[in-house]
This record gives sequence, C-alpha cells and structure tokens, in this order.
Amino acid sequence: MNGKRIYADNAATTKLAPAVLEAMTPYLTEVYGNPSSLYSVGAEAKKAIELAREDIAEVFGAAPSEIFFTSGGSEADNWAIKGIAEVMEKKGKKHIISSKFEHHAVLHTLDALEKKGFEITLLDVHENGIVRPEELEAAIREDTALVTIMYANNEIGTIQPISEIGAICKKHNVIFHTDAVQAVGNVPINVKEQNIDLMSLTAHKFHGPKGCGALYVRRGLRPEILINGGAQERGRRAGTENVPGIIGLAAALKLAVSTMEERSKRLTELRDYLIDELLKIERSRLNGDRVQRLPGNINMCFEGIEGESLLLRLDLNGVCASSGSACTSGSLDPSHVLLSIGLPHEIAHGSLRLSFSDETTREDVEYIAECIPPIIKTLRDMSPLWERIKENEKKGNE
Ligand SMILES: *Cc1c(COP(=O)(O)O)cnc(C)c1O
Repeated sequence: MNGKRIYADNAATTKLAPAVLEAMTPYLTEVYGNPSSLYSVGAEAKKAIELAREDIAEVFGAAPSEIFFTSGGSEADNWAIKGIAEVMEKKGKKHIISSKFEHHAVLHTLDALEKKGFEITLLDVHENGIVRPEELEAAIREDTALVTIMYANNEIGTIQPISEIGAICKKHNVIFHTDAVQAVGNVPINVKEQNIDLMSLTAHKFHGPKGCGALYVRRGLRPEILINGGAQERGRRAGTENVPGIIGLAAALKLAVSTMEERSKRLTELRDYLIDELLKIERSRLNGDRVQRLPGNINMCFEGIEGESLLLRLDLNGVCASSGSACTSGSLDPSHVLLSIGLPHEIAHGSLRLSFSDETTREDVEYIAECIPPIIKTLRDMSPLWERIKENEKKGNE
C-alpha cells in the first residue's frame, strides 16, 4: 500500500467538516451553561439553539417550532413511528404502510409495533429499488394510521417518489413520515410542498457531529412524548440539550445545502464514470436505478466473490468501503435491501457499496477503478463458486 487512504463510506458516516468544528468549539468550551438556566452563559446557549432551529427550519421550508432535536436518525425514526402509532391507536387506526428496504431503525420499530397488535404492510421496491406510488395508494385502508417511506435508501441510494407519495397521503388524509437521513444535504427538500408530515435527519451523515439529529413534526401533529422529564423541546423530548451537537447540526446543514448543487453535479459525474468502469468486469451488476439515485452512491455485485473478502483487500489498498449497511456488517445474513430488489442470496453476498463526499476527487475514483478489477480476478481465481459459474456458462454455450 502506498500510504494513500480513500474514504468511500460516507453513507455510513462522514468526517466532521473543519468549519463545523469551528462553529461548535465555543459551545464545548466557554458557553457551557445549561440552556434552561437564567444567567447569561445559559441564555447564550439557549439563544444559539433557537437560532440553529431557525436555520434548520428554513432549509426545509418549515417553521422553527416544527423542529425537535434528537440524538440522531434512529431516535427520530423511533419517535415518529411509535409516537404517531400510539396516538392513532386511540382512534382505532392500527395499520401502518412502509417498504421492505427501510433502515432497521424503521423496520425493527415496526416489528415491535406488530407485536403490540399493529398490522404492517411492507411495499415491494421492485428491481430498480423504487416504491410504486400506485401500489402505495392501493394499500391505504380506512384504518391506516401512518405511511413511512424513506427518502433515499442507505445501501443502494435509490431516491423515492416522495412528492407523489406525499400527495397521495394528503389526498387520503394519512400521516406521512420519511426517513430522510441519506437525502438531507444531497437533494432539495421542502416539507410543505412535498406534503411531508414528519421527517428524520441526522448530522453525522452530512459532515456534522455524531449523536445529534432532528425530527420535523408538522404543526398540529402531536406524536406521544418520547422522553419524560424536563421542559426541553416543548416538553416533548426531555433532557439537557446537546448544545454543541445542535450548533454543529445547523452549521453542517447550511454548509451541505450551500454546496449541494455543485457537489451533486460533480459526484454524479464521478459516480457514472466509475459505474461504467466497474460494469466492464464480467458478471457484475449495478444495484438500484441508475438515474434515480444519490449522486455519490454506487452499489454493485460481482458474482462468484464474497463481499467481505473484497472489502478486506480494498482496505489493504487504502480504500474504505462497505458491503452495504454498517449495521449488518459482522452478520452473515445477506442485506435485506439486496434481497428486497430480488437478488438471490449468493449474488447478494458479493456486494460492494462506495459512497462519496465533497472530499472525493477524480483521482480517488480513478484509483478505485484501477484497484478493483485485479482484486476481483484474484478472488475469482480462488473461488469454487466462480469455477462452477464458468462451467455452467460453458455447458450453456455448447
Ligand atoms: C444512518 C441512518 C440512520 C441512523 O441514524 P443514526 O443517527 O446513526 O441513528 C437511519 N436511517 C438511515 C437511512 C440511515 O442511513
């Protein structure tokens, strides 16, 4: 290895941006007062939080009072879904619609609700990794309490038709939550125009700090209180605020949005170049729609190899990538996302996810394009599975 390190796992987490650290620093040092206190260092922290709330709201076309801070994306998802489920149950509505390839923060929350008597419909995402609005509309019932569909998938990067889904939910008077963790900072979002009722986000996916996120809750909706205690977050989510985290969240969001257009254009080009290069490898495939996907996301399968072995060898070459979700690494089960788009188990095992950021350069991508083919060749030369694939190919040709 030549001492190079290329971080291509930005869908798992991102590096804190220096400007964000700078914005946070005073709140880790001098401005340490409790925002609920009356003396000036407390009041200063309180004021900074409220300014951050205004900045965040403005990005999404929301009102500041509609933004609630959480510890991240998982908490926001849990709160939105359980909080609305609890309220709607009292109105006799116990049916929830979601999709098969949501993040586990959503799917496992739905499992928990199912055990409590809720009925869950998980929509298909088809081969392109996209939910079909007409199938969603057909699944809506009298007793549907909530629709929760992610904005962009964290493994295959496919972007969902959120505006259409929002319009359908509005028409049928059903509450709509979206896990927008992967989309925020990468695609323009307006909660009012898109009829989004609740939306989860987290700072560490767009160069902010870990451990701080937010839930947008449309005015008039009142999900059940998540954490009982003090009066923070309008009495709905108690606990002394993560002041530096909140300041970092707002700073990172503003930065991500101000550079979005240019980054999106640049990363789309790099992405498409690398996809073309990797598709030259025999028996490779791109997972998820080629166009309706995040600018910096590539997810490919290479038949006859194990994703893990590919990752280890990429690491030896200085490239940090993943086989899908950070949450399932370490488990031997193939990704539920790849299974949901119809891949058979043996192919789903050979997946690679590369996810880019502002820091990714043309040079990095060219280096990755050079690295991968010889690694795949080496792994296939050792693979009994690959041998079988080639034998079957020959038989088919005879
Ligand atoms: C990362 C991620 C989450 C979890 O966010 P945390 O802040 O790590 O809890 C939820 N949903 C999606 C789509 C994600 O990519």
